[in-house]
Amino acid sequence: MFDIAIIGAGPAGMSAAVYARRAGLSAVVFEAEMCGGQMILTPEVENYPGIAKISGAELSYSMQEQMLALGAELVESPVTAVRKEENFIITAGEEYIAKALIIANGAKRRKLGIPGEESYIGRGVSYCAVCDGMFFKGKTVAVIGGGNTALEDAIYLAGICEKVYLIHRRNEFRAQKHLTDKVRDIANIEIITPATPAEIRGDMRVNTLILADGRVLEVAAVFVAIGLLPENELFADLVALTDGYIQAGDDTHTSCTGVFAAGDTRTKSLRQIVTAAADGAVAATEAEKFVNH
Ligand code: NAP
Repeated sequence: MFDIAIIGAGPAGMSAAVYARRAGLSAVVFEAEMCGGQMILTPEVENYPGIAKISGAELSYSMQEQMLALGAELVESPVTAVRKEENFIITAGEEYIAKALIIANGAKRRKLGIPGEESYIGRGVSYCAVCDGMFFKGKTVAVIGGGNTALEDAIYLAGICEKVYLIHRRNEFRAQKHLTDKVRDIANIEIITPATPAEIRGDMRVNTLILADGRVLEVAAVFVAIGLLPENELFADLVALTDGYIQAGDDTHTSCTGVFAAGDTRTKSLRQIVTAAADGAVAATEAEKFVNH
C-alpha cells in the first residue's frame, strides 16, 4: 500500500514524487519508457528558471536522481489498468494499491497520417531529432511543423545535417519569437511555407518528400513535430476528459475524488517543463491533503 501512485515520470510526475516524499508520503512512480518523457527528447532547454541552458536528457536525469534519492519507488512497467475500489488498484505487471492517484502520463507525438509515414518509421521517418539526428549527419532532412518543437528540432539538426527544410502549413510560426528569429538566421535552414506534406517515398530508406503542391524534395529523413495527442483512453471510465485531455484546473483536481492530473495530460493553456513541474508540486500537495485528511 502506497500513499500516492504516480503514473508517468516526466517533469510533472517526478516533481510530484519529490513533493510527496518531502511531505513524508510513500510514493510509487510508474514509467513505461525512460524517465523524462518528452523532456528527454528536447535538445536544449533554455527556459527553465535558474538554468540558462541544459540538455533535456541531463535535466531528466537530475530530476530522476533527486526523486530516487528521496526514496520514491520507480516501477519501469506500463500501467495497463487502473480501478477504484476503497483505494486505487494499479496494474503494471503486478498490482499496486495506493490511497491517491496522480496521473502525469504526458502526451505522445501526433502523426501526419500521409502515405509512407508508417512504413518508413525507423527508416527515415522520426519523431525525435535528438534520438535520430546523428544518423543523418551531413545529409539533407526535412522537419515538419511550426511549433516550438519543430523549430528547436530544425535548429538542432542544422548543426548536424548539410541542409534542413523546415516545412509548415502556415506562413506564421506558432513557436516563440526567439526560436523563429533563430531559424531565420541559420544559413542551412530553408523555410518552406505555406506547405503541407503529401507523401513520403523511398526504397529501403526515405529519399523523397512530396508536398501537396507537387514540389519534390530529396531528403534522407523526415522529422515530424506537429504537436501532441493525449493518451488517456485507460482513464476514460475514471475521470472526465475534454478532447482527450483530463479535465482539471490549476488545482489538478479531476472529476474523481482522490485522482489528480498534472502536466501535459490535463486541460491547460501552457505546456512547458516548468508548468508541468509546477503541476506536479500542486498535485502532490493536494494528494497529501486528501490522504491525510
Ligand atoms: P504545437 O505547439 O501544438 O505545434 C504543432 C505545430 O504543428 C503547429 O505549428 C501546427 O500548425 C502544426 N501541425 C499540426 N497538425 C499538423 C498537420 N496535420 N500537418 C501539418 N502541420 C500540423 O506542438 P509542439 O511544438 O510539439 O509543442 C507542444 C507543446 O510543448 C506546446 O505547448 C509547446 O509550447 C511546448 N513546447 C515548449 C518548448 C519550449 O518552451 N522551449 C519546446 C517544445 C515544446 P498550426 O500552427 O497551423 O496549428
